[in-house]
Amino acid sequence: MKRVHLDHRVHLDHNATTPMRPEVRALFLERLDRLAGNPSSVHRSGREARQWLDEARERIAASLDVHEDEIVFTSGGTESDNLAILGAVRTRSQEEGCLTTAVEHSAVLGAADRLAFEGRPVQRFPVDATASVDTERFAARAREPWVALVSAMAANNEVGTLLPLAEIGAALGRPGTGPNRPGELRPLFHTDAVQALGRIPVRLRAWGVDLASFSAHKIGGPLGVGILYKRKGVALEGLIFGGGQEHGLRPGTENVPAISAAALAVELAVREQADFADRTSALCRSFWEQLQVVVPGVVLHGPPLASPLRLPNTLNLGLPNADGLRVDSRVLVPRLDLEGLEVSAGSACASGSLEPSHVLLAMGLTTERARGGLRVSLGRTSSAEDIHTAVDILGRTFHAPR
Ligand code: PLP
Repeated sequence: MKRVHLDHRVHLDHNATTPMRPEVRALFLERLDRLAGNPSSVHRSGREARQWLDEARERIAASLDVHEDEIVFTSGGTESDNLAILGAVRTRSQEEGCLTTAVEHSAVLGAADRLAFEGRPVQRFPVDATASVDTERFAARAREPWVALVSAMAANNEVGTLLPLAEIGAALGRPGTGPNRPGELRPLFHTDAVQALGRIPVRLRAWGVDLASFSAHKIGGPLGVGILYKRKGVALEGLIFGGGQEHGLRPGTENVPAISAAALAVELAVREQADFADRTSALCRSFWEQLQVVVPGVVLHGPPLASPLRLPNTLNLGLPNADGLRVDSRVLVPRLDLEGLEVSAGSACASGSLEPSHVLLAMGLTTERARGGLRVSLGRTSSAEDIHTAVDILGRTFHAPR
């Protein structure tokens, strides 16, 4: 089989991580070089670091259309999910727990499992064949008295399904009236919006959420910076203990250069979201059309390509049986990698796992079919040439003798 040049790699795994944007990297390095103080110190160097931190918080709050006091910096999407779920539910009585969906990221499912381990009620609500939930039934379950918090992801990282958050919010009686809604609402509403930011419009107030998680490295920002939106008035308990940073919720000296860079990445991602969606959805359509010719019988997991309820940049493919051999993405992904194409079998966090994707299983696929799921996710830098090369490699690899 003809090999492509190994120095030309086609990275179509942007949902796992996406390269730092040049302007974000420049700001990161500049702040790294200039930083001389701890943002909690009162001297001049400390005050400068504090100013950068405040500015980052303001930029993010403005981009998300929320108040700067509602932004908490964490180490990533995983920590934001854990802080939201464990932090909120642990302030409630032991009889209360968390309702989530069967297709959440392991950061949400892991936090929910922890609550179950602590003896609290937890449920993973089933999804349909597109990885979505029935709004009315989900909201009815959410209103049961044991539910302290509902966690429903904005966009699925494996198949790209968008959950109907505004409808769920409305069914939970959330008018999206802003930060000053009186009293404590029940249940609290959390969304993991890690894959939504920069890909679809993020409308925290219209969705009616109280808590939302984001991660900088999914949008061209640095690794190791997460953001938690926490609506004013929502009670949370921190997961770690120490100083008073981040309203006492996330003690420890803030990583100021990385947070500054993350803020720029958020601002750019939000500003360029519509353009990103147009470009990547056109490339995904082209990829899908070309692939069907090269690999007849390939199927698309999740909502139809034209559906408004899917991420513009994410495709999850089911390759057909060839030569009586079931395609196993654990075998296929390393083969494609040898050819210069970087895609994944599902979530990067589960890539070392022998288990088939919990998302595809929850959508009703058999274990065998779920093992064949292949995730292709595009980014800002993906080009028509990348798509063409990817289809070529997929076709050759798929038809190669096994
Ligand atoms: N939630 C979703 C939907 C994700 O896709 C990811 C990353 O894969 C995370 C949470 C975890 O984010 P991080 O890698 O920043 O911890």
